[in-house]
Amino acid sequence: MSSTPEPTVFERIAAREIPAEIVFESERVIAFRDIAPKAPVHLLVVPRTAEYRDVVELGAGDPALLQEIVATAAELAREHCDGQFRLIFNTGEAAGQTVFHVHAHVLGGTLPEGSLGTE
Ligand code: AMP
Repeated sequence: MSSTPEPTVFERIAAREIPAEIVFESERVIAFRDIAPKAPVHLLVVPRTAEYRDVVELGAGDPALLQEIVATAAELAREHCDGQFRLIFNTGEAAGQTVFHVHAHVLGGTLPEGSLGTE
């Protein structure tokens, strides 16, 4: 017997079941502000599909969709800051991933020097 998995928080945002400040939408991608920003600009770029848990699965399963996420991140960084940004895909619980629906963090604005973290 198979059961339908619960929708992820990001699917619920895309379906307008949970409010979010959406900054971009296309047929396959949605982007919105992170609810707990770690930088002056902190956006999440997310495929509508929840099929891929992380960037490794996405890169193997649909490289064109991964490319669209990267291109969207670059375009949003041009709109929201100076076009320079840090792109983070937390991959696995030990690496800080809490939502297992692949997403890119786009961090921009003035970021701490010499740090790869988001804290
Ligand atoms: P990660 O820890 O890499 O899985 O990232 C998940 C991110 O989703 C965190 O930075 C959260 O702050 C963010 N987040 C969780 N729920 C929401 C929400 N309802 N709206 C916007 N961002 C969210």
